[in-house]
Amino acid sequence: MPQLQRLAVNAAQICDRTINLTPEQQHYLHRVLRLNQGDKFIAMDGRGHWWLAVLEAQETGLIASITAEIAVNKELGVEVTLMAALPKGNGFDEVVRQATELGVASILPLTSDRTLLKPSAQKVDRWIRIATEAAEQSERQIVPVVVEPVSFDLAVKDCHQKHRFICVARGENRYLGDCLSPLEPPQPRAGTGAPPLQRGEQEPEEEPQELSIAIAIGPEGGWTDGEVQKAIEFGFEPVSLGSRILRAVTAPIVALSLVGSAFEKRPSPKKIP
Ligand code: SAM
Repeated sequence: MPQLQRLAVNAAQICDRTINLTPEQQHYLHRVLRLNQGDKFIAMDGRGHWWLAVLEAQETGLIASITAEIAVNKELGVEVTLMAALPKGNGFDEVVRQATELGVASILPLTSDRTLLKPSAQKVDRWIRIATEAAEQSERQIVPVVVEPVSFDLAVKDCHQKHRFICVARGENRYLGDCLSPLEPPQPRAGTGAPPLQRGEQEPEEEPQELSIAIAIGPEGGWTDGEVQKAIEFGFEPVSLGSRILRAVTAPIVALSLVGSAFEKRPSPKKIP
């Protein structure tokens, strides 16, 4: 349904097949997108559910009624966490936008030994907004989680992903693409086909992902040897993204493209009669 506009909503806004729109969402749908009573749009909760919704005018304002679940799955099917040291300036904005387009599930901004940027609290809100817009634009069902910046030490220690890679610009390390290709293909991801929650119903427990991957990218100055050693201690494999030295904002895109190349669901080629 490419012609329909998409709106990210919070699962808590949905009750008895009704979406209680916030004033900002009403403004966006009505004033910005020029939708009126009876017009349809796609509501996505950022957790894998998409619904076809119809706008209804009430005395209190606009609400939306859910008319159908849209069973599409455009997600990669592997849970990818990007752990990226903060680059200078606004470079992380583009990292968030493009990583979202490439299918990442979570983004952890890192402060490392050579990180120069000290991010403000507003930055995180901005990155969440960018991730939400990029998820809508790229027709994803999931809005990646963007968390507060966390120290490299804590991030590697708390990393729970099954497969962990730290991208190191120099040295003799395996190519990330070669590390990913032997990994088992993922099971279909849970999250489509579920009806919206009814009043009083609890969100079901998240199913564990079959395959989860963490990829760490350093800042402009690279990782220190100590950081690479620490990551190895916590189960990260140092990997290469190729023979050329990539910018800190380019490396995440290359790494995530390799993930897409390994795990993207492709239609089977048509048989030539
Ligand atoms: N100043 C560092 C140096 O000279 O070694 C280069 C840092 S690079 C600009 C920023 C980050 O991107 C690196 O820490 C690494 O995580 C990643 N990166 C860039 N090129 C890479 C490559 N060819 N292989 C693996 N990682 C790479």
